[in-house]
Amino acid sequence: MIESRMLIGGELVAAKSGEWIDSLNPATEEKIGRFPSAAKEDVDAAYVAAEAAQVKWAALSSGDRAHMLRNVAAGLRQRADEVLRVEVMDTGNTISKMKADVEHAAHAIEYFAGLATEIKGETVPASSDNLHITIREPYGVVGRIVPFNHPIKFAAHALAAPLMAGNSVIVKPPEQSSLSAGILAEICKQELPPGVVNIVTGYGRSAGDAIVRHSGIKRIAFTGSVPTGLAIQRSAAEIGVKCITLELGGKNPLIAYPDQDPEKIAEVAVQAMNFSWQGQSCGSASRLMLHESIYDAVMEKLLKRVASIKMGDPLDAGSQMGPLNSKAHYDRVCSMVQAGLDDGAKLLIGGKRPEGDAFKKGYWLQPTVFGNVTSEMRIAREEIFGPILSVFKWSDEAEAFRIANSTEYGLTASIWTNDIKTAMRAARTIKSGYIWINNNSAHYYGMPFGGFKNSGLGREEGSDELLSYTENKSIHIKL
Ligand code: NAP
Repeated sequence: MIESRMLIGGELVAAKSGEWIDSLNPATEEKIGRFPSAAKEDVDAAYVAAEAAQVKWAALSSGDRAHMLRNVAAGLRQRADEVLRVEVMDTGNTISKMKADVEHAAHAIEYFAGLATEIKGETVPASSDNLHITIREPYGVVGRIVPFNHPIKFAAHALAAPLMAGNSVIVKPPEQSSLSAGILAEICKQELPPGVVNIVTGYGRSAGDAIVRHSGIKRIAFTGSVPTGLAIQRSAAEIGVKCITLELGGKNPLIAYPDQDPEKIAEVAVQAMNFSWQGQSCGSASRLMLHESIYDAVMEKLLKRVASIKMGDPLDAGSQMGPLNSKAHYDRVCSMVQAGLDDGAKLLIGGKRPEGDAFKKGYWLQPTVFGNVTSEMRIAREEIFGPILSVFKWSDEAEAFRIANSTEYGLTASIWTNDIKTAMRAARTIKSGYIWINNNSAHYYGMPFGGFKNSGLGREEGSDELLSYTENKSIHIKL
């Protein structure tokens, strides 16, 4: 049984109210631990500590800040096995996939530590009798709220850019999977000055909302769903003028042209759908758009591949797919199977709880594929964030682009063709922020990640993110 603590002002603490939230293993529904349920009073304490620590932190050289951040990354690597085990039991993601998340968490911190000297201003020839310079200053205390699907990766990433830019941070991990944040809290306590990082666990409607509504926190970065992103914008606007960046959901198209090998497309479609994360990834290509000339051949191979996905104990290295993350999420995803049937889509495989004693408890849903999908159906428009793939057939490219752009989302897209002109025409026409040509799923630090339309605001994973935690100040020196 794991009992994690929050980090406030350099101390590992429980909530002031003494309330806790249970963590369940989604594969078995058994309790595996608990973590503090923070409320406004805890967030207020975190803010006081963060504000007090920030000035000294910002006064350090960027090299010193980078050095301490690298120590946090090293601490994560040292405890990688422990983090991995906790994370697998808390999220239901399989151990073979989750391994990479712990490494990504450390890598994200090191990437931003490496940008230490990139927080640059400019000299501007705005007049001849002044020296005009801009400098970049930190906001002060930054609030970051992260989702459940990659908990340690997002919590660790959340610290890096704001700290490097000289801010202190309050992080709110997701209620469904907060235990790994307890380990991150212990590492930050060891490696960073008190108050520079504060980790406050609890429900979004209490702890998260208290961060958003705190009058001292002007800069907020949120990763999560569109409805929560909209709610955060509304709540923040009731308090003051705040700078909010949003990394939200996706309903991402994978478009395969007639020149593609059906076997290859079947393979990449299964990968890109992220069945191995139960579809719980913002970049999942949940809309597969096949040219009619390859449709039948791809579908025959794709359904065989989907049928062979091995579901099982997430801690078993041979398992290729685990359960959904929580009961509420499972119920919602299952309701989308019904929505597909109600809308007249053809259920080609899956859609049920897998058979066998191992799956009697837990939030298990088979990998599911719907054919005959059209763009008006709910399964074509709404982000399901579960293992449900919707397949479209297209014949005319203009029609394919219309379908691809027909949702409120615009996060990623994956285009498969051997013709560079066709590929670039598609890349320019599709309204998404992150486009792969003949690839899928990969993220490359240094390349800005973020969404068009309702998929978000702002860009992460590159120098844009670092600079987004600074405000520009103009200084005019009369010569
Ligand atoms: P969510 O329900 O929107 O929750 C995200 C976070 O917001 C959680 O920590 C949640 O706390 C908190 N929260 C909820 N209500 C809040 C409120 N009123 N004020 C402040 N905070 C609040 O999203 P999720 O289900 O965890 O994650 C799945 C979503 O994240 C999907 O839509 C996915 O596409 C998106 N996502 C996007 C990216 C990206 O980079 N674009 C990456 C990963 C995931 P509780 O958990 O306690 O409710």
